[in-house]
Amino acid sequence: MTIDLEALFIDLHRNPELSFQEVRTAGIAAAHLRGLGLEVAEGIGRTGVVGVLSNGEGPVVWMRADMDALPVVEQSGLDYASTAKGVDPEGHEVGVMHACGHDMHVTALIGAIEELVATKDQWSGTVVAIVQPAEEFGAGARAMLDDGMQERFPAPDVVLGQHVTPLPAGMIGVRPGPQMSASDGLHVVMRGRGGHGSRPHSTIDPVVMAAATVMRLQTIVSREVDPHDLAVVTVGALHAGTKNNIIPAEATLDLSLRYPDETLRESVLASVERVIRAEALASGAIEEPTIETLHTLPATINDESATERATAAFRAAFGEDAVVDPGLFTGSEDVSWFARDTGVPLVFWFWGGIDPARYAAAAANGTLHSEIATNHSPFFAVEIHPTIEVGVRALTVAAREFLD
Ligand SMILES: [Zn+2]
Ligand SMILES: [Zn+2]
Repeated sequence: MTIDLEALFIDLHRNPELSFQEVRTAGIAAAHLRGLGLEVAEGIGRTGVVGVLSNGEGPVVWMRADMDALPVVEQSGLDYASTAKGVDPEGHEVGVMHACGHDMHVTALIGAIEELVATKDQWSGTVVAIVQPAEEFGAGARAMLDDGMQERFPAPDVVLGQHVTPLPAGMIGVRPGPQMSASDGLHVVMRGRGGHGSRPHSTIDPVVMAAATVMRLQTIVSREVDPHDLAVVTVGALHAGTKNNIIPAEATLDLSLRYPDETLRESVLASVERVIRAEALASGAIEEPTIETLHTLPATINDESATERATAAFRAAFGEDAVVDPGLFTGSEDVSWFARDTGVPLVFWFWGGIDPARYAAAAANGTLHSEIATNHSPFFAVEIHPTIEVGVRALTVAAREFLD
């Protein structure tokens, strides 16, 4: 029996599902894992799937793929592009797209499990396949662990995960130590006093208060963080008011903060809070602003020695030139909760999904940033081949490194 991975990928791509709504995707993954002879549990952390492949004495390897899609209207122009719609947590109808490549992650995991099953006589130990929901909420890994993953399944010796990225297909990007940033999402409400637009003196204007806050927040990274350190402060949403002649009572700001270093996190968070409170005070606000944490993600830090082992295995499998250090990413991931909760090494790497010729042409023209769509773009498009094959092989090679 051979699984048609291309058909699986196209099917998942055409039928993306939003975070924590991955019922169809989970069902497909569970059916494949069951078909391969794994013991499968469903509904872990709402829609998560766990499959256990026991093959005698030896190490336990957790292999994780995330499966959720994004509220993005696909514009890739692919003939298998998604036209799916979904309903987001606020109740809005949105287009849905696998704009982060998680369809490829699920496909590669199923392919790797198939490979490990086929070569069972060459290794011993236990493989735990994890199909995780809601990575894009930064909530799915936490939900699965809080649902008793540690008690219900064999404890890992190592956690493996991979993410498809805008590198040329065939390339692997991996580095020991910090790989991705920690992240906090904040929701801020700044309160003024509403009134008539013609009588600003009788109000405390939250629009001006919020505007000043947005500008002042930009000085944290440029004036307070050491230029050698990496941090990002983004205000991704700013809402206030309904009409030109009404001064509203409040304004809301949604912030995304990134830092690979946990100490820096504390100082940036303190600065953000100081600026918000000080700008409210400067505006004469009577009520304190409120700052609510929407999510907190730890930094993705690769274990030094386990990552060196995996990297050597990748070099042997794909060749020296195919394995690069992709640098530190300002993006964030929730995969590391699996390793942090269980106290074991994490190895998380990237693999390329872009047509190498197209990538090389854009690099030669200096137009990589404008021409090669990144994850979360409506134009993000992964070459099916050899991305599937490389993803399957990378995951298999890394698993075998710890199982052999
Ligand atoms: Zn993403
Ligand atoms: Zn992703």
